[in-house]
Amino acid sequence: MRPPILFPLFASITSISGIGDKSAKLLSNLGINKVADVLWHLPYSLLRRNLQPSLQTAQLGEINTFAVTITEHIPPRRKSQPYRVLCSDEYGNQIVLCFFKVYPNSIVKNLPIGAKRFISGKVENYNDMLQMNHPDYICEHINNIPQFEPVYGLTAGITNKMLNRLSAQALQQLPILPEWQDNEFLKQHHFPSFNQAINAVHHPQNFDDLLPTSDARTRLAYDELLANQLALAIVRQKIKKQKGRKIAGNGLLRRKIIDALPFKLTSAQENVLKEIFADQASENRMLRLLQGDVGSGKTIVALLTMLNAVECGFQAAIMAPTEILAKQHLETIAPLCENIGLRAELLIGKVKGKARTKIISDLAEGKIDILIGTHALFVEDVIFKDLACVIIDEQHRFGVHQRLNLSNKGNSADILVMTATPIPRSLVLTAFGDMEYSKIDQLPAGRKPVDTRVMPLTKIDDITAALQKQISAGRRAYWVCPLVEESEKIDLAAAEKRFELLQNIFGDKVGLIHGKMKEKQKDEIMERFKNGEINLLVATTVIEVGVNVPEATIMIIEHAERFGLAQLHQLRGRVKRGNAAASCLLLYGYPISSTARSRLQIMKETEDGFLIAEEDLKLRGSGEILGTRQSGFVNFRLADMSVHQHLLITASQDAKLILNQDADLQTPRGQALRILLYLFERDDAVKTYLAG
Ligand code: ADP
Ligand code: MG
Repeated sequence: MRPPILFPLFASITSISGIGDKSAKLLSNLGINKVADVLWHLPYSLLRRNLQPSLQTAQLGEINTFAVTITEHIPPRRKSQPYRVLCSDEYGNQIVLCFFKVYPNSIVKNLPIGAKRFISGKVENYNDMLQMNHPDYICEHINNIPQFEPVYGLTAGITNKMLNRLSAQALQQLPILPEWQDNEFLKQHHFPSFNQAINAVHHPQNFDDLLPTSDARTRLAYDELLANQLALAIVRQKIKKQKGRKIAGNGLLRRKIIDALPFKLTSAQENVLKEIFADQASENRMLRLLQGDVGSGKTIVALLTMLNAVECGFQAAIMAPTEILAKQHLETIAPLCENIGLRAELLIGKVKGKARTKIISDLAEGKIDILIGTHALFVEDVIFKDLACVIIDEQHRFGVHQRLNLSNKGNSADILVMTATPIPRSLVLTAFGDMEYSKIDQLPAGRKPVDTRVMPLTKIDDITAALQKQISAGRRAYWVCPLVEESEKIDLAAAEKRFELLQNIFGDKVGLIHGKMKEKQKDEIMERFKNGEINLLVATTVIEVGVNVPEATIMIIEHAERFGLAQLHQLRGRVKRGNAAASCLLLYGYPISSTARSRLQIMKETEDGFLIAEEDLKLRGSGEILGTRQSGFVNFRLADMSVHQHLLITASQDAKLILNQDADLQTPRGQALRILLYLFERDDAVKTYLAG
């Protein structure tokens, strides 16, 4: 249960007076849905409303503040004209205030002739006169005009003035929260309290206050990182406390599989297997992350890991994020298993009725050795006879919670999490906490580099002409359409339009696949692409994860500048499956920023996923790297991993220390930390793994 002290912050944004459903909808475009979200929406700049000594020093196009006297009212003669009010400063210089579409009564009342007023707003020159349209402020006292005004990120229909008012109201609703950080630590770093910090970031007094390195912003970033690390540490602590089983098979099944492979394991594969087998053999439960670039050969590593458990008479399961991927695993794993007298089965959403019942009962009787599936494996009636090993593939699509659900199906089953997203070291910590991890840092020999080119979209006619030649020569290509920030509908429209245009050229050789399609339709299209009925596949990023069509050797990505580098890397990996020479075209639209250009250049220069990820982290924030929008991966509101990385290690150590002293967060500080976890919505960990 969420602590009552946080209720005001978790109230809907419509609980703030003046915010109705309409504004709420607009605000949700900024990620603002509840009161706390307003607090997390930090200003990025600062307006100065310095009082000018006279109208003569007015800065055109800028915000200015002046002391003036009202001299004349000029009501509009036609409806389209503004109501104008003439003012002068004490030296006789003049300025016109313009009001469009307003009731004159209020102007007449508030700006009587001869009255002195302070006005603040943007000044322009119109017909050789100074002019201010709809001043931001008209006050009798200068003190009522803020000297500095925070500037917030906006969206259509939401003004900076509204956000300033909102943040003031949200701050008013902020209860005084107990301190969850260690007092000594706060003193050492000169950190303000949480309440002081959040007030300070919304009232910057100078440009330094806006820097992510300011004391207030650093404190808040640290709070968020600590919540993240503490939640992960809680989960990990619970898993580690459960004793594992010593799993060390006789190696016979593994030997048979290895002997049957048409290739030799790379030394990178051998090394990670050594680490994994050692984990399995120890009496602690395994919780390990396996990172390996697309095509580095994780599947065989997963299979050998599972076989170790099967050799000991146990069952194993592997879970993929999509049905396509689960089926792909089945296609690789099942024949290999069959050859050595084992049974692997697929359990996904569409396995229903009798077929499903049979799998469920065979599983419970131990007749199935390896179960392959999607989240359909979580369902309650899926019961193993004795599950000892769980592999989670492409794990960033799953939450921590889901991950553990499956592991609970086993009697303290070992867990190996596999990801093809190369994650920089620092970010591993944010996503997985202090978890052991292995890297397959080498691709199988013989892979040729992908010929990567960066070109403007304006060359599209040349490109389709070249593609035509390739397609008639029997090659297969992907054409990936971009993501548009606002809506999936628009994404889809763009892909459909491209599909139509390409159909005009390639006829029925081209197919379309996108995320809105039914699973069955997707499978059908993939199947036709696999068997060569279609040669050109237009896609939104649904193909990003793991699809395996070794014959496809050309990847064209439209508006590549809109993708994260890690995403581009994944996409390019799709055409690196076979041994044929492959090419990748990154098409960019104008205007393109210099940062975007250098990012695309990195793609041209290297195929090392880890290097790409590190570079991307330098150029952009962490959310971008991991493609937060699609993955629901670590999403920080206040911490910026390109600046606050160093805090993460401290937070990780801090979290460990806290749990060593207060495993169930029961002390007064522990109680405050629970509030922190709820505040940053990491409460899954509390609810599931902590005593009340
Ligand atoms: P990923 O790490 O992307 O899951 P896969 O396990 O799908 O990669 O492997 C990609 C391809 O490389 C597969 O066709 C697989 O059979 C092959 N492969 C795996 N290991 C080796 C190896 N040591 N030598 C040559 N080919 C390999
Ligand atoms: Mg894979």
